[in-house]
Amino acid sequence: MKAAIITIGDELLIGQTIDTNSAWIGAEMSKAGFDVYRITSVHDRREDIIYALGEAAGKTDVVLITGGLGPTSDDITKQTLCEFFNTRLVLNREVLKMVEEMMSRRNFPMNDKNRRQAEVPESCTVLKNAAGTAPGMWFEKDGTIYISMPGVPYEMKYLMREIVLPELNKRFISQVIIHRNIMTYGTGESILADILTDFESGLPENIKLAYLPASGVIKLRLTGTGSDSSLISKLINEQVSILYKIIPEYIYGENEESLETVIGKLLRSKNKTVSTAESCTGGEIAHLLTSIPGSSAYYKGSVVAYSDSIKSELLGVQEETLIKYGAVSEQTIKEMASAVRKLLKTDYAVATSGIAGPDGGSESKPVGTVWIAVASGSDIVCEKRVFGNDRTNNITRFSLAALNLLRKQIIRLQTPFI
Ligand code: AMP
Ligand code: MG
Repeated sequence: MKAAIITIGDELLIGQTIDTNSAWIGAEMSKAGFDVYRITSVHDRREDIIYALGEAAGKTDVVLITGGLGPTSDDITKQTLCEFFNTRLVLNREVLKMVEEMMSRRNFPMNDKNRRQAEVPESCTVLKNAAGTAPGMWFEKDGTIYISMPGVPYEMKYLMREIVLPELNKRFISQVIIHRNIMTYGTGESILADILTDFESGLPENIKLAYLPASGVIKLRLTGTGSDSSLISKLINEQVSILYKIIPEYIYGENEESLETVIGKLLRSKNKTVSTAESCTGGEIAHLLTSIPGSSAYYKGSVVAYSDSIKSELLGVQEETLIKYGAVSEQTIKEMASAVRKLLKTDYAVATSGIAGPDGGSESKPVGTVWIAVASGSDIVCEKRVFGNDRTNNITRFSLAALNLLRKQIIRLQTPFI
């Protein structure tokens, strides 16, 4: 069962809109057991649309198309589909009624452009779009199904969920594809791949492993395919148990869980609180922690101690420490962590001080150097890490390193970074 995706819109090719439709449709079609073999993005241009449709014709069971269905003149998908399927536009009374109702609900007057949205190619089956004014269209030609949907993501998703996926499910006896993601942090992709060499070569034929790294987090995706979903789930579960035995120190969660989500769960379950004192990360850790709904139960607040004067005046870091060892040092970071913990009265406290760059590095403390500390009770652990030269990347990596140190402290996991 093969599927192709075509997304249409000038904005997608000039980098103004990120093509999230393809990613979403790809994930859903893959879950439904389809092999998505190609994604194409084209301009709102007749010949490019025809070319993309022609490319997919005959090679695939289903072609999913989004974009170019708006009421304005730059959207030409409908006319072009008429040309491709050798049909013409006709007014659809039911769609017209839906558009009229939607416009009156929104208190907008109907105009010619809205009326034109109710014109659909004669040979298609109309997919009623309760989420917007442009209907979806279902065509069949020479054994291939073509489905055209609006570009607006929530309208496309509405049609996919309510009509397209259920209908495709009925038509195709699906092969099952099951994904399971294991989230890791604490080592590099190549080192992880080395550790997992034997694991990978011992995987059953129908289970595949992929490494998906992003800013220090490496997602290990296990994908199983076959006709028996319970058998695939069982095989994947067995492999996941093996992974937990080989790399327990690096696995922090599953599926799309972030470090901050896992930390939230841990703190809640232990009824503990945390605060932050951030220099080089400038509030990023606070932002990550508070992006989790319900974080007020365990996150108290932050002192963004960017300048040395704030470090000493607000946090009480000793001036001698700053002068003797510098702001980016083990001594300073320890004082910052224990000070904010006392100041904000929390069980744990996280502190960061480093050089995000691009300037400010020295031979002994190059750009990308960070000291992170976690204080809990009388215990303070700290780590020095050195990352790259890119400021934005560094801020993300510093923050994740700090969150991981916090996580390890909460569960009392003792592992050095490799
Ligand atoms: P259209 O159906 O071409 O009028 O698209 C309407 C709007 O949907 C565009 O202005 C974009 O903001 C959005 N859009 C279109 N195609 C995509 C896509 N492939 N991914 C994400 N958003 C899109
Ligand atoms: Mg468009």
